[in-house]
Amino acid sequence: MTSRASPATTRLRERVLLIAPHGSYRTASFIEAASQLEIDILIASQGEFSIVNEYAKGLHIDFQDQQQALERILIAAEEQPFAGIIASDDIATGLAARAAQALGLPHNDPQAVTLTQRKDLARQCLHNSGVNIPAFDRLSTLQAISEQKITVDFPAVIKPVALSASRGVMRVDSMAELEQAFARLKAILNAEESLSAEQRTTVLLESFIPGVEVAVEAMLYHGRLHILTIFDKPDPLDGPFFEETYYTTPTSQPETVQQQIHDSLQQTCRAYGLNEGPIHAECRINSEGVWILEVAARTIGGLCGRLLSMGTGYSLEQLVLMHAMGREIKMAPMQTATGVLMIPVPKAGILKRVEGLLEAQRVQGIEDVVIEVQQGYELTPLPEGNSYLGFIFARADTAQQAEQALRQAHACLNIVVAPMWKINSALSA
Ligand code: ADP
Ligand code: CA
Repeated sequence: MTSRASPATTRLRERVLLIAPHGSYRTASFIEAASQLEIDILIASQGEFSIVNEYAKGLHIDFQDQQQALERILIAAEEQPFAGIIASDDIATGLAARAAQALGLPHNDPQAVTLTQRKDLARQCLHNSGVNIPAFDRLSTLQAISEQKITVDFPAVIKPVALSASRGVMRVDSMAELEQAFARLKAILNAEESLSAEQRTTVLLESFIPGVEVAVEAMLYHGRLHILTIFDKPDPLDGPFFEETYYTTPTSQPETVQQQIHDSLQQTCRAYGLNEGPIHAECRINSEGVWILEVAARTIGGLCGRLLSMGTGYSLEQLVLMHAMGREIKMAPMQTATGVLMIPVPKAGILKRVEGLLEAQRVQGIEDVVIEVQQGYELTPLPEGNSYLGFIFARADTAQQAEQALRQAHACLNIVVAPMWKINSALSA
């Protein structure tokens, strides 16, 4: 990747280790960001047989054997040091924290990282620290609902403790709905082989917090929270499922509320013991104040990080890389209004084609329309599903105009989905 120079002028470029599951959709953006910053990046992954060069030539680790993975990273660091260590996804953040800790690089306490990945432990921690969170009960899927103590009132939300992207998150308004949702969640968790036994059998029941929701992208520098942007989620998220759709920025929330959001998130990070790196959070806001729904120690999912580079000049991945190397960047707040629509999966089935892409792209303010799912692939809506069909990006003078452009572009799309016939259902018909 680097150009060869004569021995006299050779200066080793700084290099950063990116720990990423093979196939992470964030890897390409980090590789690009590293090249823009003129640093080398080594990828640690399970990519031994990958056809992608960066994985194949990278460090091969097994996420199931964290101790051995850590040792491999430390040996690689002895051969040539790392200026920083980052993780692309939740599965890699714990290992990244341990490796960076061992090498004296900016990192979070591995225990703090665990809290961001276990909603039940996180809730208990925030409750103990007096952070404003919904009332909650921790339930076990190994026992019937009727045998467990439930203190939360309806409406409530039932959710897994270690999944993401709203998978398995369901609103329930009565005991009967809770019973049904509990069975449905149990089936989702049973099929989830990547989870530990405890993660697979523990679920959370929380009181439903009404109100508007915002998503926050932030960076922590030595414990200090620096908000990069607050996204409004203009579509109501009242359930029964909570599909992510529209994100627009700048937020329409007044300064005072933005300050409260900052303060609540800062308090949350302190409670977890999180001090360094990217934060992606969700909060609800109503007459009783700001409520913390979730704080993750990673960047925003999907391609949505692009929204930030549209506004700030630095990409989110560049900020993360620079932070990992101990560099803090002073940044002016974003000036442009941007928005993204995570295109909802319209129904279950096989994706035949998406019509109207050109019309959608031509809508004023639309920057890009990206379809992520390939033709012929299966689409599964929430709560079982876990992928977005794609993204539409907009940039405009105001967040409202960006939202309008997204809505108009979405209306141009005709997503053709063929029903899927399962063999057993065909036989029993
Ligand atoms: P995930 O990690 O899968 O994103 P979250 O806990 O963040 O799970 O929940 C996903 C979405 O479900 C939230 O963004 C929110 O819209 C909704 N939600 C979750 N918990 C609550 C709650 N207690 N009250 C209201 N809405 C909730
Ligand atoms: Ca979330």
